[in-house]
This record gives sequence, C-alpha cells and structure tokens, in this order.
Amino acid sequence: MDMSQSPFGECGDPVLSCQEDNILFTSINYLIPVIQKAYTDMQEINLSELQETASAGGNTDVGGDARSDSPGYSAKYTCYSFMDDATKKIIMSDLIQVSEATSSPAMEAVGFRRGLDRLLDSGVSVDVVTTDRAPSIRKIIRESYPDLRHQFDPCMLQKKKATAAARKKENRDLQPWIKSMANHLWWSCSGCAGDEKGLKRMWTSILHHVCGIHRWEEDGQEYKCNHDDIGDDQQIRKKWLKKGSPAWNALKAVVLDKNLLRDLTNMTLFKHTGNLEVFHSSMLKYSAEKRAALHICHHAGKTTAQCN
Ligand SMILES: [Zn+2]
Repeated sequence: MDMSQSPFGECGDPVLSCQEDNILFTSINYLIPVIQKAYTDMQEINLSELQETASAGGNTDVGGDARSDSPGYSAKYTCYSFMDDATKKIIMSDLIQVSEATSSPAMEAVGFRRGLDRLLDSGVSVDVVTTDRAPSIRKIIRESYPDLRHQFDPCMLQKKKATAAARKKENRDLQPWIKSMANHLWWSCSGCAGDEKGLKRMWTSILHHVCGIHRWEEDGQEYKCNHDDIGDDQQIRKKWLKKGSPAWNALKAVVLDKNLLRDLTNMTLFKHTGNLEVFHSSMLKYSAEKRAALHICHHAGKTTAQCN
C-alpha cells in the first residue's frame, strides 16, 4: 500500500485536504463553541430541575448506556450517556478516548463512573440506575455505589442463547418460540409489580405454556397462565413442545440459567434503556468518526496541525 495515498496520518487521525482544513478551522472557532454553549446551558437547566427535585425530597431514576465508534476491541472513542427515566432527557453525556482507559472495552466503565459522579456531585439524588449486564458496571455499582438500586434492561436477554440452541438440528422445534420467549420475559418484568418471587414464577411458567399446559401445580399450589382461554381448535393445531424433548430441554436450560435467575432480582422495577439506545443510534448516524476526532481535538485545546 502506498502510504502517501493514505487518508490517515501517522497517529491514525485523518489527514485533511485544504477545504476540509478550512471547515475544521471554522468548526473549531465558530460552530462548536456555539453548540457547546447551547448544550451546557441546557444541561445546567436540566440539572437545576433535578436539584430542585432532590431538595424537595424526590429521587431521580436514570438509564446509562455506552456507544463506541466501532465494535469490539478497536474502538478509539466511546460516548457514555445518562437519560432521566421520567423525562427522557439526556442529562449527562461524555466522550471518552481510549487513552483514558486501559483498553477499548474499559472505556465504558470510565464513562459510567465519570458521568455518575458528575450527576451526584451536581446534587442529583439518583436512586435507580438501569444499564445492561456488563460485569464492569455491576462491579462498580456494587463496590462504589452500594446505596444505588441497579436494574438491568430485560430487552433481548437470553434471545441470543435461545437462537444459538435452536440452530441445532435436534432443537429446531424451539425456533418458533424464541420471539415468544423474549416477549414473555418483557411481560413478566412488566407485570411482577416489584415482586422478585412473582417475577421468577411468571418467567419460568413458560416451560408449562410451551407444552400446552396452562394450569399446573407447584409446591401444592395451583397456578395458571395469564392469557385468555385457548380454544380447542387452537390447542390442537398449535405446535406445542413435548416436555423432555431436546427442544424443551434446550429451552429449559435457557430459562433456568442460574445467571439469569440471579439477575431477575435486578429486573423487578421494569426499567429499560431503549430510548437511550435510540439516541446513540441517531448520534452515530449524524456524527462521522472524523467529527468525533474533531470533538476530542477541541476539548484537548489542540490545533489542527496537532491533530494531524
Ligand atoms: Zn398458557
């Protein structure tokens, strides 16, 4: 490869043409300061509202999520954002460079801790924090913020495991039930009313329903599915799983996964980060990697030449 044609400099940042250089100059000196001031002003307003909530004895529930400029271990930048669960406003957002962490995946933990500390230092009374199940975030909350209630987003949980199991020839009957399983977890979290035991019972009830059993006994007590009665015709035609079959056993392994059952404890409040993921997706759509680099250069107070 002819390196003289490479669009990237020695440090890996883009080498800009004269026209791009002018755009960068204009952006750094005129455009970004205006955007940053508007952003800072709005953030101050949002935080002051949450401070007033805290002064009145109220709490704020937040969702946190990270989005990197590229997947896996090659990301250079990660944006970590917090959303107010009640208003769906982004109340904290920060860009982390890989040099600030020990590795690309470690940027998420850096962004989470930094953003949360800023919220708490600003006087926001954070009660519930909802994230994905990243081990690094769980450890931080457990060790450094034991008073916070940590919740996990149930979306997509176990769907990957079930999909992988259903790919095996002997488990193919499981395939039509995967979407139902994901919906069932969502429904169980939404209907458990904060009751951990109730959530586990609702979740594991799917092992009866998929066999066409809608009333069953457990510990001497009778339970039944929450859906309306299924007509005889549908009961006959539906492709139920056979209890003890390979497909049912595969589903059972997913449903009774000990890590999942443990994590259900952190899903009783039915919190999710879907809106935050939409925000990050929109941001990536309109923010090229080069603009992320430009943002970093601006914050570091570097000149265009230094960036190159
Ligand atoms: Zn049922």
